[in-house]
Amino acid sequence: MDGNDCQVCASEPSIGVAAVPGVPMSIAWGRRCLDENAIPQWIAESTHDQIGGDSAELAEWFLDQQTWVDGKYVSVRDHLAGRVPEDIYAGMDELPDGIERAD
Ligand SMILES: [Zn+2]
Repeated sequence: MDGNDCQVCASEPSIGVAAVPGVPMSIAWGRRCLDENAIPQWIAESTHDQIGGDSAELAEWFLDQQTWVDGKYVSVRDHLAGRVPEDIYAGMDELPDGIERAD
């Protein structure tokens, strides 16, 4: 991957930079991933982790997007199904106010 590759799949050239829907960041997109309505796998997973790993708390439009996993497109819904979120607070002795450690 170099600076001109799609930041979703890293296997096609980017055609420009645009915002990730619902996420406060912009990335380089390739034509195929734009056409597939695909977002980066790490964004799907980190969003899932940030809301405590309950996909039912995610909007339908978010779950209906695609992501790129092991060389193919998979719906965010299917990718997150049954996934155990990482403990994003692992290693922290004290958690931020209002945050409870996952089981
Ligand atoms: Zn792509």
